Amino acid sequence: MSLPFSLAGRTALISGASSGLGAGFARLYAEAGANVVLGARRTDATGALAREIGTQALAVPLDVTDAASVVAAFDAAEARFGRVDTVVANAGIAATGRSTEVAPDDIARVMATNFTGVYLLAREGAKRMIASGSREREDGRIILIGSITALLGFSGDAAYAASKAAVAKLGRDFAREWARQGVNVNTIQPGYIHTEINADWYATPGGAAHIQSFPRKRLQTAGSLDAMMLFLASDASRSVTGGIFTVDDGQSL
Ligand code: NAD
Repeated sequence: MSLPFSLAGRTALISGASSGLGAGFARLYAEAGANVVLGARRTDATGALAREIGTQALAVPLDVTDAASVVAAFDAAEARFGRVDTVVANAGIAATGRSTEVAPDDIARVMATNFTGVYLLAREGAKRMIASGSREREDGRIILIGSITALLGFSGDAAYAASKAAVAKLGRDFAREWARQGVNVNTIQPGYIHTEINADWYATPGGAAHIQSFPRKRLQTAGSLDAMMLFLASDASRSVTGGIFTVDDGQSL
């Protein structure tokens, strides 16, 4: 398949690249010519993926909830590839259950990963892009992975949904703050895609009924995000910043 946008010459750091969408984004960006830095807590999984991709990939330990770990991941990326000009804040977790019953620790974990983690990763990336001259090159790209749960009324995922609404808001405000520094920040809000994050849910009768409630009565495929992911990391999106792009196969209609 010929890809619509080239990422040759770019280096992208992707959080949560050990499984699901993040692993797919890493393969996609590498195929489009970028160097890819695979950040995750599970370096056994990212190490295997990096070996599969080849010399243009590097696995680094990364816990997005830990500011020192975020700094160390960028240090390792720069030591291998030089500048990181593209960041994909993809790591995320859920805490499903009735809001009357979800444990306080689970609420805190969701916010630490999905909100604080996105914040720490994006701002460390932006700091380094700005310090390395993104203002002149206008080549900084930060892509936040939100979710359509930010838009929908849905019971059983309130902390997750609120954290994703916060991601979209962070995307807008970061975009405003770094607009004159050559750093574009955009948020993609995917619909429901079968991955580790929701595998248990879709194995239940409730999960099957959920799929039937979508206009097209199907889960979205991970590949359906590819074109938007490539566009937002490419030179073609130079004038696109502060966008919130819902790519959901119509599930939120
Ligand atoms: P996933 O569980 O396969 O992937 C999430 C990844 O994040 C995992 O590799 C996990 O190890 C990593 N991660 C979690 N906490 C981390 C931390 N503290 N530091 C570093 N990495 C950490 O699920 P996925 O579906 O691929 O999710 C990827 C992103 O897409 C998430 O932000 C999720 O909220 C979002 N999303 C998923 C769907 C869907 O239907 N699958 C829909 C909308 C949005």
